[in-house]
Amino acid sequence: MFKRILIANRGEIAVRILRACRELEVETVAVYSTADAGALHVQFATQAVCVGPARAAGSYLNQEALITAALAAGCDAIHPGYGFLSENPAFADLCEANGLKFIGPSGAVIRQMGNKAAARALMQRHGVPVVPGSDGPVPDAKTAAALAEQIGYPVLVKASAGGGGRGMRRVDRPEDLPALFDAARSEAEACFGDGEVYIEKLILNPRHIEFQILADGHGNVIHLGERDCSIQRRNQKLMEETPSKALDADLRARMGAAAVAAARAAGYRNAGTIEFVLSAEGEFYFIEMNTRIQVEHPITECVTGVDLVREQIRIAAGLPLQAAQEDIVQSGHAIECRINAEDPRNGFQPCPGKIGFLHFPGGPGVRVDSALFSGCTLSPYYDSLCAKLIVHAPTRLEALRKLRRALEELVIEGCPTTADLCYLICYHPDFMMGRYDTSFLERHMEELLAWDPDARK
Ligand code: ADP
Repeated sequence: MFKRILIANRGEIAVRILRACRELEVETVAVYSTADAGALHVQFATQAVCVGPARAAGSYLNQEALITAALAAGCDAIHPGYGFLSENPAFADLCEANGLKFIGPSGAVIRQMGNKAAARALMQRHGVPVVPGSDGPVPDAKTAAALAEQIGYPVLVKASAGGGGRGMRRVDRPEDLPALFDAARSEAEACFGDGEVYIEKLILNPRHIEFQILADGHGNVIHLGERDCSIQRRNQKLMEETPSKALDADLRARMGAAAVAAARAAGYRNAGTIEFVLSAEGEFYFIEMNTRIQVEHPITECVTGVDLVREQIRIAAGLPLQAAQEDIVQSGHAIECRINAEDPRNGFQPCPGKIGFLHFPGGPGVRVDSALFSGCTLSPYYDSLCAKLIVHAPTRLEALRKLRRALEELVIEGCPTTADLCYLICYHPDFMMGRYDTSFLERHMEELLAWDPDARK
C-alpha cells in the first residue's frame, strides 16, 4: 500500500478521498490555491501545500507545481479526483515519469477514451452497440450534411474532445446544419483547444444510463450496476438514482456485459464509467467512457457496499479486486441530489458568496458529501457544486420519502442552491412514478418552479 498520497483536487471530492486515505491509514498531502487557504480539505489533510493562485490554470491545473509538491513531500501516488487533471493523459504520463503512481488508468487509455470519436470506433470494433453516426471525425459541414441525410434527422454534432455538455449541437433540419456545425466546432475549439467533431443520431427522449466498472491489474473486470442520470439540465446531471426503473434483470445483465466488454476493449484499469443512452424502445447505445471517479459514485457505494475510492487506491497499488462479479448485489435503492450554489430561477446562474448558518441532515440512510462549513466562502473561481445529499433505503418509495425529509432538514444560508428544485422534483408525479427521461427537467421546469412547496402542507 502507498505511504503518502497527494490529492490534486479541492472541494467535496478532495474530502471524500482524504476520508478513504485515513481509513486505509495512508498519509495525505492536500494542495490548495491562495483562494482556498481556509478550505476544509486543507484542514483534513496530514499536510498541505499551496500550489498557486486562485485561477485554476496556475494551481489545480499546474502540472509542474503538483508534481514538485508531491516529490518534495515524499508522496508515492497522486489521486486526481474528477475534473481538473483527472482525464488529462499528459498529466498521467508525467506522474509515472516522475515515479508517482497516478490513481486512474494509464495515459494511453485516457488518451484513447478521451477522444469520443475514437472511443466510438473502438467500441464498434468490439461489438458494443454505439449510436448510429459517422465513422470517426467529420471534416466539414458538407460531409456532415450528406451523413445526416443517411442517418436521418434530428442529429447531434458532438466534439470529440467534449465534456460537460459543451461542444454539442442538436440539428433538426438540413438548412440549420452548416451554422450549427460551425458553432459546435468553434465551441469545441474554444473550450478544448480541439475543433474535431463527429455526428450521431439524436435518440429522442432517452434515459441516460451508466454502468460503474472496476478493473484491476490482474485481468479482473466487474460492473457494479447502473445509475440512472436522466434528471439533467442542459445535458448536466442534477439527480441520480440506482437501480433504474427502466431496467429489468435481463436488460441490466445485457448492459452490464456490454460495459465489461467496453472496459476490456479499452484495456482499462481502475474505476471507470460506461455511459449509454437507452431509447424509449429499450435499445441501448454507448455514448462515452469516463476514465475517473464520478460525482454520482456514492449511490453505487450505498447499494453495493463497495467503497469505490478505496478500490481505486488499492487497484493503483497493484492489489486485486476484493469482489467478484457474483459478489455484487444491488441492495435497496439510493438517490443523490447535487446541491449547487446556483439559482434555478435565474438560468442556473452560479451564486458564489459567504455561507451563513449551515445544517446538514442526518439519521439512518442519509449521507452528505460536502466541503462546506458555517462561515466558509464559495469561490467564484471553481465549480458550483457545494454538497451532495445521498439517501439509501430498502425500497424506492422509502428512499424518496427519506430524501424529502432530508431536504426539509437541510439549511444552507447565504446563497440560493439547487436543493429547492430537487425538493420540488421529489413531489412531481412523473418522478414519483419513475417515469422520466433526459427531457424531464426542461419539460417541467416552469411547472416545478411555479409550485409552492409549502402549499401542500
Ligand atoms: P458530455 O461528455 O459533454 O457530458 P455526453 O456524450 O456524455 O457529453 O452526453 C451528455 C448528455 O447528452 C447525455 O447524458 C444525454 O442526455 C445526451 N446525449 C448524448 N448523446 C445523445 C444521443 N445520441 N441522443 C440523445 N441524447 C444524447
